[in-house]
Amino acid sequence: MEDSSLFTVTHFLILILLISITPTSPSPLDTSSPNYAFQLMNSAKAEKDWLVSIRRQIHEYPELRFEEHNTSALIRRELDMLNISYTSPFAQTGVVAQVGSGSPPVVALRADMDALPLQELVEWEHKSKIDGRMHGCGHDAHTAMLLGAVKLLKKREELLKGTVRLLFQPAEEGGSGASYMIKDGALGNAEAIFAMHIDFERSTGTIASIAGPALAAVCFFEAKIEGQAGHAAIPHEAKDPVIAASFAILALQQLISREVDPLHSQVLSVTYIRGGTAMNAIPHVVEFGGTLRSLTTNGLYQLQKRVREVIEGQAIVHRCNAFVDMKEEEHPSIPAVINDEVLHEHVQRVGKLLLGSENVKLGNKVMAGEDFGSYQEVIPGVMLSIGIRNEELGAVHSPHSPYFFLDEDVLPIGAAISTALAEIYLEEHQNMVH
Ligand SMILES: [Zn+2]
Ligand SMILES: [Zn+2]
Repeated sequence: MEDSSLFTVTHFLILILLISITPTSPSPLDTSSPNYAFQLMNSAKAEKDWLVSIRRQIHEYPELRFEEHNTSALIRRELDMLNISYTSPFAQTGVVAQVGSGSPPVVALRADMDALPLQELVEWEHKSKIDGRMHGCGHDAHTAMLLGAVKLLKKREELLKGTVRLLFQPAEEGGSGASYMIKDGALGNAEAIFAMHIDFERSTGTIASIAGPALAAVCFFEAKIEGQAGHAAIPHEAKDPVIAASFAILALQQLISREVDPLHSQVLSVTYIRGGTAMNAIPHVVEFGGTLRSLTTNGLYQLQKRVREVIEGQAIVHRCNAFVDMKEEEHPSIPAVINDEVLHEHVQRVGKLLLGSENVKLGNKVMAGEDFGSYQEVIPGVMLSIGIRNEELGAVHSPHSPYFFLDEDVLPIGAAISTALAEIYLEEHQNMVH
């Protein structure tokens, strides 16, 4: 009798336990349910082999900015297989897929597709097969994770309370692909946008985001100072561009220290100087150039204006002429990445739901650039960092390093987070006026 009652109590407890962990009635969008994160992460992990194979295919055949034809074809092939509607091309090779009701609210997710002109030095089975080109910034992973999100969202399509636009963008690396995507209408009526970038300083399984300025507005410049060539022994008959360029480069260094609020981050780096060929001749021309960065887009415009004035002014002082080119054609300037405060809170909340509070951090500001800022000039958005660091695998190198290596465990995590960011956003904005 005593035994049998013990059995009953144990049985009852097991039953309670089973009820509490079995995914039963609550819809997957009942985000208060512990099942929500569990189910979503599990469906993402079930796609890991597929995600890894997509990422490796892209990794083996990297394509440079605006040449992502095979990558674009691969994306379209996968979308076809998943029976997902899409439009292309945007910005030459870009693709925009759409999942959901087709009605507002509309939220956008973005991945970039391009690789770098870099020789991969990691020896592994899926090393880049194209000499001098490498996915050294993780855009292969970004693309795979976004395809993962498309697949997960498609499975949950009838639950979506609006529409998700998924932007596969070309030419992030110095091509300002984002601005061309926008010109071609890729945003549609999206009202918010999210993107993630892999982060080698954070462990796999963690993410980080920051509100406000996160990445710098960036541009490049070239200056040419023309003087008059002459014999080094009779300088008074020449107009020396070496002296003019030297004064100009030093004067440029005063701009940030004397004209910019010390609490406002800017960078001005002159990275090369070229001029002359002989030790006894004053050259006709000296060229130099570099990069300008600012955590606000207006700060960059102001700096560009002053760089031009200082170089031209210094040239005149030394009886030379200056020509300053901001290289807009080749390397269009990009605005700062300024993350929306409310959407940053959303990222933190969704991240904690999926990964646990201890794995969601506040991000850092970095003076690198990302053309995601272009989207944020149109609609609010957040670019978050997703950790890929794994010492055992050697995933410890910075992006743009020839030794860059990815911990592929990030792929299902990124796919699940992208999915949750979009579907929870729609869930919470369905009743708002659009
Ligand atoms: Zn990069
Ligand atoms: Zn990148």
